[in-house]
Amino acid sequence: TPDHTRAIAAAVAGLTPRRAPQPRTYTLLSGLEPLEIRPDSNFINIGERTNVAGSAKFRKLIKVDKYEDALSVARQQVTDGAQVIDVNMDEGLLDSEAAMTRFLNYVAAEPDISRVPVMIDSSKFSVIEAGLKVTQGKCIVNSLSLKEGEDEFLDHARRVRRYGAAVVVMAFDEEGQADTVERKLSILERSVHLLVDGAGFAPQDIILDPNVFAVGTGIDEHNDYAVNYIEAARQLKQRFPLSHVSGGVSNVSFSFRGNEAVRRAIHASFLYHAVGAGMDMGIVNAGQLEVYEDVPKDLLEAAEDVVLNRRPDATDRLVEIAESFKGRMKEKIVDDAWRSDPVAVRLKHALVSGITDHIDEDVEEARLEVDRSIKVIEGPLMDGMNEVGELFGSGRMFLPQVVKSARVMKKAVARLIPHIEAERAAAGEEAAATNGKIVMATVKGDVHDIGKNIVGVVMGCNNYEVIDLGVMVPFQKILDTAESVGADVIGLSGLITPSLDEMVTVAREMQGRGLDVPLLIGGATTSVAHTAVKIDPVYDHLVVYVSDASRSVGVLGQILNPETRPAAEARTREEYRQIREARGQAGGKSTLLPIAEARGRRETFDWNSTVCPAPSFTGTRVFDNYPLGELIEHIDWSPFFQTWEMKGRYPDILKDSKYGAEATRLFADAEALLRRIEEERLLTARGVVGFYPAAATGDDVELYTDVSRQQALTTFHFLRQQADKSGARADNCLADFIAPLEAGVADHIGAFIVTTGVGLEELVAGFDADHDDYNSIMAKALADRLAEAFAERMHELVRRELWGYASDEALSNTDLISEKYQGIRPAPGYPACPDHTEKRILFDLLDGEAATGVTLTESFAMWPAASVSGFYFSHPGSHYFGVGRIGRDQVEDYARRKGLSLADAERWLSPNLAYR
Ligand code: SAH
Repeated sequence: TPDHTRAIAAAVAGLTPRRAPQPRTYTLLSGLEPLEIRPDSNFINIGERTNVAGSAKFRKLIKVDKYEDALSVARQQVTDGAQVIDVNMDEGLLDSEAAMTRFLNYVAAEPDISRVPVMIDSSKFSVIEAGLKVTQGKCIVNSLSLKEGEDEFLDHARRVRRYGAAVVVMAFDEEGQADTVERKLSILERSVHLLVDGAGFAPQDIILDPNVFAVGTGIDEHNDYAVNYIEAARQLKQRFPLSHVSGGVSNVSFSFRGNEAVRRAIHASFLYHAVGAGMDMGIVNAGQLEVYEDVPKDLLEAAEDVVLNRRPDATDRLVEIAESFKGRMKEKIVDDAWRSDPVAVRLKHALVSGITDHIDEDVEEARLEVDRSIKVIEGPLMDGMNEVGELFGSGRMFLPQVVKSARVMKKAVARLIPHIEAERAAAGEEAAATNGKIVMATVKGDVHDIGKNIVGVVMGCNNYEVIDLGVMVPFQKILDTAESVGADVIGLSGLITPSLDEMVTVAREMQGRGLDVPLLIGGATTSVAHTAVKIDPVYDHLVVYVSDASRSVGVLGQILNPETRPAAEARTREEYRQIREARGQAGGKSTLLPIAEARGRRETFDWNSTVCPAPSFTGTRVFDNYPLGELIEHIDWSPFFQTWEMKGRYPDILKDSKYGAEATRLFADAEALLRRIEEERLLTARGVVGFYPAAATGDDVELYTDVSRQQALTTFHFLRQQADKSGARADNCLADFIAPLEAGVADHIGAFIVTTGVGLEELVAGFDADHDDYNSIMAKALADRLAEAFAERMHELVRRELWGYASDEALSNTDLISEKYQGIRPAPGYPACPDHTEKRILFDLLDGEAATGVTLTESFAMWPAASVSGFYFSHPGSHYFGVGRIGRDQVEDYARRKGLSLADAERWLSPNLAYR
């Protein structure tokens, strides 16, 4: 009614209207996981094999209704590195709508496939729409075109947009397909305008396909098809920088069907030039991309003549060469053959392959051939490193290989340095410049450095000088060093949540001292959101979040090059500003329950029937020198491969078509070092376990000296979820899994600390002295694995013997890894109990320092890093959860319970605060 309107008008008078949130300008797609395409993203691979027209295997399986088996084709594409899968069911004898619906439903049930976005591919809009109806996340429609005129185009475009999908437009119009550059450009330009102005598409949701047609067909008019595509890609990317340029790569080599070697050579050459021009996505056979440099030179040249239409007889020549490559597999190089190459070639080979065996003699030989020793580095060694950088950048080489290459480089350089310095001194010269100086550190209170070390190695490989200050580094030391060496960049790393605050401190101090170098932020606990919201605002100069090691070099290249820096800086600042703005707007509408109400929604249990029997002892038991062999059996290997940025599950990853070969090598190296560690007792495993009579009092758990529960020993404090959940879902708190005092039953809680880090420092020091980053990082990664395995093994012992509530449990290691047992072992600092300071109480209770040698830093990280601690809950209903955001009412209550000031409690809980 008008009254309401007036009342509303009066209520908002004088208030500034809400600013509409600015959509991010990067393309954001999603399967179960998001796929953000940023300017620094590499080429996006779209898997082509789930296409009935393109893959005979897939077609057969779909035709005989073997959808389950057809899924394996999709899975293979994803494991081969496809970041999107193209699904096409266009086949005359198929009910394409039904097939699309059915297959996508099958895909949706397979998280390892549906984590990537789908590209719904059909020339029939009804099939596309059938696909859109069953696809979650943000998919891509492939494709729309002006073939049937503007009205139909707009109608389809609007419908696609209502489903929220991105769209591919093909360069077709009412007249047919575009094969010249001019027509490709004019049709696609018209399409973009219709999509943006007529259908409301954002430019970043548009993918332009200027048509990949076959070359080498024998028809002269076709000779310029690839050249025209490449030229169109160049101009399209300039005109529409936020949109993408894509194409079906296999089309280009269609006339060489049956000759894989030739087709791959054509693809490699085509992609090399098209991607260089501006193509940033492509539908490809993800497992069969060949590196440009790896294609045999004669074949590559002939293929390139065809692709670039460089000579009139190009096709004939390629056909001729094609004959000799028909069916010929790439012959395997005999292992030792490279030893008879000239020394420069040998050095390069050793670098690219990561072989240290002959490095000393080869370096010496190369040094004697040149007048200045530095030339060995500048020549063959840098050539090799450049190739490593390129292979890694294009996803054809993986982190372990890079680190092995770095080891070769370091050993070679170490050998040359004395000579180089002597020669420089004799000539009275300064040291040569690098690409830049990076000061890196794990911040004060934090002890984790595997990721940081890997980043350091990758940077070193790219000719950056890395000054690594190690772990637990106070800001004074970081900044003093940066100032004294004239650092170009400071990089901070951290794994535990308190490090987030410490990073803010470092940034604030940088501002205070008037530094202006860029600050890079990385590590498991960090995020782009935290960087944007908490760190960026306190430092006037550039702050950049780097999500993983493979990104670091790209970022450094952009921000240290004066030409690209302004754009990179502006882009980053704008991105972070948008994140802050979105954050500010989301912050207002939190729906937390008051803590009292959340407590009323706890999960309840019938305590009389479910409390576990008493443990075999109360108090502590210490385990020293626990047999390493038993731990090795219990290792969960999947996270080990993740450490090396090789995604996949063990043991499947050993057979993976992309990572398999390298994963197998890495695993063999790991096993060899483990064997050494076990035989030579290089690491010592120590642990302590304790059990105590306990009762829940509110959200605390009180521990007692004995079962009479008269005398309290100590108290653990837990936090409760405050989310307003729908339905009957409870607001959890770990204290709910312990019987409350008033239930009058004899419940218990357990606690543990285990470490396998004793001896690690010495072991690592030996590798470092030998310039062996690979084994240094490997040793740390293995110690971490052993610590987790110890936690698993100890938990098993607890269930079966020490507490003994599951004495007949018999689980395989796989079952243990998936935690198919009764009870949990939540660790302080993890989502169910995010407060790291509770470790102090746990350590005091178990006398942990004396029992295990593990100490706590000022941020409550455990040192050595290869340590795990936590609580044992035995109740069959106990489970993990995340506390999530909490309100000020709970924080005040929690501070009171712990005897902390509100400010201190807020500092430790800052990642969980729903306010501020
Ligand atoms: N097999 C893995 C095990 C470690 S992660 C490995 O080798 O790395 C699993 C452990 O993390 C759990 O046993 C528990 O200690 C901790 N954890 C996982 N989720 C948690 C949560 N929500 N709250 C508290 N601790 C959790």
